[in-house]
Amino acid sequence: MDLTYTEAEQAFRAEARAWLEANVPRGLASGDTAAGFAQHVEWEKRLFDARWAVVSWPERYGGREASLWEWLIFEEEYYRAGAPARVTQNGIFLLAPTLFEFGTVEQQERILPRMAGAEDLWCQGWSEPGAGSDLAATKSRAVRAADRGGWLLTGQKTWTTRGAFCTHLFGLFRTDPDSERHRGLSYLMVPLDAEGVTVRGFQRLDGDEGFAEVFLEDVFVPDEAVLGEVGEGWRVAMATAGSERGLTLRSPGRFLSAAEQLIALARERSGAATPLLRERVTRAWIDAEAYQLFTLQQVSAIVAGRSPGAASSLNKVFWSELDIRLHESALDLLGADAELDGPWSRGFLFSLAGPIYAGTNEIQRNIIAERVLGLPRR
Ligand SMILES: Cc1cc2nc3c(=O)[nH]c(=O)nc-3n(C[C@H](O)[C@H](O)[C@H](O)COP(=O)(O)OP(=O)(O)OC[C@H]3O[C@@H](n4cnc5c(N)ncnc54)[C@H](O)[C@@H]3O)c2cc1C
Repeated sequence: MDLTYTEAEQAFRAEARAWLEANVPRGLASGDTAAGFAQHVEWEKRLFDARWAVVSWPERYGGREASLWEWLIFEEEYYRAGAPARVTQNGIFLLAPTLFEFGTVEQQERILPRMAGAEDLWCQGWSEPGAGSDLAATKSRAVRAADRGGWLLTGQKTWTTRGAFCTHLFGLFRTDPDSERHRGLSYLMVPLDAEGVTVRGFQRLDGDEGFAEVFLEDVFVPDEAVLGEVGEGWRVAMATAGSERGLTLRSPGRFLSAAEQLIALARERSGAATPLLRERVTRAWIDAEAYQLFTLQQVSAIVAGRSPGAASSLNKVFWSELDIRLHESALDLLGADAELDGPWSRGFLFSLAGPIYAGTNEIQRNIIAERVLGLPRR
């Protein structure tokens, strides 16, 4: 790894920092509430207008053709500036890399600019009542409607983050009725205002109402809604999962910034910082730095043409457990004040979900055991 930044990279950082310092909005409501979502969308449109929404994308889609290193620099600056969590993330960080890899030129040109500009807002429709960890148990089906040049979708998706506010969903559907498990699935993209779609929002543990169940009843989508080959949905979905567990969804900037805030809190509450707590704060900072270095190592490998593959499961376990430890230390520093609603107590509640979403940590440990360490399945 070469950890020195070039002059161009340093200039990129300075430009991003200056723009963010001048433009980051303060005090937005949570993006998982209806009012907060609208405020976040407005912010993301401003990001797009200034060409900071999707820095690594081609210029024709609103990006800056930034390298992976520059993207990481931007993320670091974004979190350092305390900028709002991205409500477009399921589109720009999960679906977009998959579209770049498997999409046709027509799909890329039609979908990516509107996604980048926060005109179309995407949610992830994978989980079903009977298919969470076991995604291959997907039952939602797509029946060929050859006379209309498309598919009729029927089924139920659940735990759809911000599904209650989004405009489009991507998900897995069984296109071969005789198939089982990983075979015969296809990856489809569905507008949520299509006839036959019912979206029912519901609350999370923290009271935000952004979760949804999505019911589909004979919803027609054209052939262009299939991403990748028909029947190859599992392979396409695993590329999305790699992005979700690995690099793009949780960049190190997020944890570096949280660790800095934790250190500031420990200084502010120095009376509460027992030797043990000081050690935990130090450990959180070391872990955030270690995660940064691990990510840089992965980026070096990607730039050299190697795919992180199953190793993205290591990332996922590490960042999700780090996030909980970091928030627990903050709550202990806050003492009784932690009972009050505030960024640390809300952050703590959300951190508890980290070992569940993007594939539970038990599942990641199975993947690490079998595919990274090569241990026997039983
Ligand atoms: C905050 C949040 C946001 C989410 N957003 C989305 C979203 O936008 N879109 C979406 O599609 N889904 C989303 N999910 C759903 C998430 O992907 C699932 O909750 C997750 O995959 C687990 O599935 P499940 O809830 O059905 O639990 P189950 O699969 O029923 O698992 C229950 C428990 O059993 C364990 N377990 C299951 N199988 C095994 C095994 N083989 N070995 C060891 N342990 C096992 C699990 O680890 C877990 O502890 C979200 C979840 C959360 C918490």
